[in-house]
Amino acid sequence: MLLVNNVKLELGRDEKDLKKILEKRLRHPVKSYQIKKRSLDARKQPFYVYSLLVEIDNEEKYLGKDISLYEKEDLDPPYKVRNATCIVAGYGPSGIFAAYRLCQAGFKVKVFEKGKRIKEREKDVETFFKKGILSEESNVQFGEGGAGTFSDAKLTTRIKDKYIDYILDIFIKHGANAAIRYENHAHIGTDEVRVIIEKITDHLIEKGVEFHFAEAMEEILFDEDRKIYGIKTNKGEYTCDHLLIGIGHSAYQSVMMLKEKGVFIEKKDIAIGFRVEHLQSLIDQRQTKGLVESANEYFLRYKGEKGVYSFCMCPGGIVIPAMSDKNTIVTNGMSYAARDSMIANSAILIQIYKEEFADGYEYLQNIERMAYDHSKSYRALSQNIADFMKGDLNPLIFDSTYPLGTVLYDFNQFFKKDDLMIVKEALKDFDRKIPGFIDQGIMVGPETRSSCPVRIKRDETYQSINTKELYPMGEGAGYGGGIMSCALDGIRIANALILRYEQI
Ligand SMILES: Cc1cc2nc3c(=O)[nH]c(=O)nc-3n(C[C@H](O)[C@H](O)[C@H](O)COP(=O)(O)OP(=O)(O)OC[C@H]3O[C@@H](n4cnc5c(N)ncnc54)[C@H](O)[C@@H]3O)c2cc1C
Repeated sequence: MLLVNNVKLELGRDEKDLKKILEKRLRHPVKSYQIKKRSLDARKQPFYVYSLLVEIDNEEKYLGKDISLYEKEDLDPPYKVRNATCIVAGYGPSGIFAAYRLCQAGFKVKVFEKGKRIKEREKDVETFFKKGILSEESNVQFGEGGAGTFSDAKLTTRIKDKYIDYILDIFIKHGANAAIRYENHAHIGTDEVRVIIEKITDHLIEKGVEFHFAEAMEEILFDEDRKIYGIKTNKGEYTCDHLLIGIGHSAYQSVMMLKEKGVFIEKKDIAIGFRVEHLQSLIDQRQTKGLVESANEYFLRYKGEKGVYSFCMCPGGIVIPAMSDKNTIVTNGMSYAARDSMIANSAILIQIYKEEFADGYEYLQNIERMAYDHSKSYRALSQNIADFMKGDLNPLIFDSTYPLGTVLYDFNQFFKKDDLMIVKEALKDFDRKIPGFIDQGIMVGPETRSSCPVRIKRDETYQSINTKELYPMGEGAGYGGGIMSCALDGIRIANALILRYEQI
């Protein structure tokens, strides 16, 4: 098979024309082709750029610029019945994909997830979004599928890794649109990802994985050599040979427990800020001159004394309350597969270095509590961006999509003096890149959970550096930030274990 890169197609042209374009370029009929990657080049006159997998006779004859041989690698692990039990604590992307791969390789896998299954979790989240009654155990952060479930389910990552295809194949096998394999900024949407994750769980149950929902790991158990032999939960004690923890960035209590147990944990940099909202039509017009009608994204970065950047941009989405603790406010973004809210939102964040705080969790929680104290409810803080720039406070130019409503707040009080100046410079820069960004936008916040403030340090075998058979993974351990990077980290851990047993 050939991999043919850099095949261009004008917007509005039928994708079926790719065959004609290919045959013209190769000057030979092709037997079949499949899209490997598609991206939009919107720098001038926008067009799509494709990488295609092509079947053609005498492949070698066509090798050259942008054309190479391609062979699909079988990435499934070797299966053997392995006499070892792995406990996976936390069932977000890292836990899901570690459990999946370990089960495929023949390990005995037990999953412990603090939150509930999706159907019940949906009810709790809806009660919160509609009535402002928060469950601290079952919410946007906690439950089957982890933090990525009530999300945009964008599958973007800057990481290049062959296991990305393995992950996408699992999503597709359980119902995702096959286009996620080749879309440059693939997106599933919260409605569809929920169904897919339920199917993955059902598949794992069928394959013998033991699931314990609404059962949180409360303590790790280890012997005098600091070698893990099990966990204690709110319901009982369980033994294992290996403990994988993928507890996410909101599991403050579990991190405190690990610290008390002497597990080596270090501080890491974080970021704080707010969400901005604009009419999606403003972004579409700027990004593709209106030629691609909906769901255009932006990625903005300002390099001042500190970095300020857009993060987790949700075209056609809504801003949601994403807290897991009572009397706090945290915003984030979510969208449905159709991305049809007509509003674009994105976090705008400034870096906070680890030297700037003693305890990152406390630092973030103080912000989240301050927001609640100002709001006196779960309504988020809000301001017109133009007012923020001038230090003014006027009614919002349009209503935020945040379901619980907002209260006005002057974000000039939110940042330290130096950071405030940098954020304002960044917004001016973003306004040059997307004219109207300031005057036509509102801000809603605070946004505090974009990255975890700690890293549970691991060695080259992926185990904790001072606790044997403890495998920290994903965002809460400081090794990922996003669905794909955390899923990849789960696979990395599973592979490390598989390799150990292959060598025995
Ligand atoms: C609203 C929202 C939207 C997002 N949108 C996107 C997006 O579009 N694209 C993207 O790439 N990323 C997105 N993210 C980020 C992404 O969801 C996370 O980076 C990812 O889910 C982290 O995966 P994880 O496996 O490390 O942990 P998590 O997904 O956080 O999962 C951790 C799980 O562990 C459980 N847990 C915690 N403590 C315990 C315990 N003691 N015992 C048992 N279980 C426990 C929790 O209940 C949770 O289910 C979004 C996040 C949020 C909150």
